[in-house]
Amino acid sequence: MRLQALQPRIALANLRTAALPPKVADPFYSSPAWIELRDRVRREAGGRCQVAGCNRRGHIVDHIVELKDGGAPLDRSNTTLMCASHHAAKTASERARRTARRPGGL
Ligand SMILES: [Zn+2]
Repeated sequence: MRLQALQPRIALANLRTAALPPKVADPFYSSPAWIELRDRVRREAGGRCQVAGCNRRGHIVDHIVELKDGGAPLDRSNTTLMCASHHAAKTASERARRTARRPGGL
């Protein structure tokens, strides 16, 4: 008896031609109301990261409760100024929390 190779049942994806959709900037972040709040947060923070003990230059006005999680977009008390490093760490941690919450992970 000879073994015969089975035909693949699923076609392979051609990852070389698969492209992500173009990244589109959220129009919220160019609205006059956001720009006004963003500038106010930067000014009130003296341009410094507001994470305790950091004091690096603040680059990103962050929503403390992310908009994806229902945070208020234009509430001063839901915003803070962060350095790039603290903002990246927070974003990664929020993403991990969101992923873990979903049934079956990813
Ligand atoms: Zn920082």
